[in-house]
Amino acid sequence: HVTKHFPARGSLFKRGPRRVVHAADDVSIALRAGRIMALVGESGSGKSTFARLLAQLHPVTSGEIRYRGKPVRVKGGRSLRAHVSKVQLILQDPFGSFNPVATIARTLMRAVRIHHPKATAAEQRRIIDDLLGQVSLRPARQFTEKYPHELSGGQLQRISIARALAANPDVFLADEPVSSLDVSIRLGVLNLLRRLVEERGVALLYVTHDIASARYFAEDTSVMYAGQLVEAGPSETVTQNAAHPYTQLLIASAPDPSRADDARPRDIGQPPSLIDPPSGCRFHPRCPFAMERCRTDAPPAFALEDGQWAKCWLYDGDDEAAARRVENAA
Ligand code: SF4
Ligand code: MG
Repeated sequence: HVTKHFPARGSLFKRGPRRVVHAADDVSIALRAGRIMALVGESGSGKSTFARLLAQLHPVTSGEIRYRGKPVRVKGGRSLRAHVSKVQLILQDPFGSFNPVATIARTLMRAVRIHHPKATAAEQRRIIDDLLGQVSLRPARQFTEKYPHELSGGQLQRISIARALAANPDVFLADEPVSSLDVSIRLGVLNLLRRLVEERGVALLYVTHDIASARYFAEDTSVMYAGQLVEAGPSETVTQNAAHPYTQLLIASAPDPSRADDARPRDIGQPPSLIDPPSGCRFHPRCPFAMERCRTDAPPAFALEDGQWAKCWLYDGDDEAAARRVENAA
């Protein structure tokens, strides 16, 4: 039930009511070892903020983050380091996450020293070689003496994964890990992440705006809209038989890779501001099925089949609506 509200920029010193950014409202997900969960939404939906909350980079306003069933309480210093070593964040822009004047060896050495403080210098160098091997950058010496600008985006993203692996984490939070990369190398990096999930049994949260990639990459998919989850379930079901009108819109707007003339997403309008989001169902201003109650009452999660659920009044025990869903998804 993670909720994060923060004051809107510039509102602190203004008169009148404080404006609040609803970055995350009552968001609940469960990550499992050896599985990938996709968190899908447009930019500005709050999905990156949510990943950063899980990494404890910001405190939550309310709700709780649990690790193996126990609440994580970070009070700085040692407890933050302990959490960071279990949960590693991989960011979208690998160039922005490296010190441009440090060699790769130096950057990796820093991470290795933090997590293997007792290893000798020779052992630490061996750990670095091993980490680079795990992300298929071999031989290691081809990369260790390079600076970030001498490497491609794909190589650097692999090195940021290697750096994350130095902590031997149980959880990876990957925020659009391939969006800034060339289309031709995206699959290689995703396959690497998939292999790490399978071989090391880590749990991976894959944050993306690309619902098509969620289908082949992640077992489970959660869809976020305006700071709230609106639908979740097995990726197969969510992408093939989307229940929520927003998920249906996302799927309809994704480019179809089997058609050469269909390279661009269709214009589907803009998500609302997270400051003063719409009342009731936050999707109602864009929803083709919006009813009167949608404007005033926020829908709860309605359970569907196979672990799928959707927060949408169409599923409030209304058989006709269920029929509409099938029609619409077909
Ligand atoms: Fe559309 Fe209403 Fe469902 Fe919201 S609750 S998605 S407005 S039908
Ligand atoms: Mg983002």
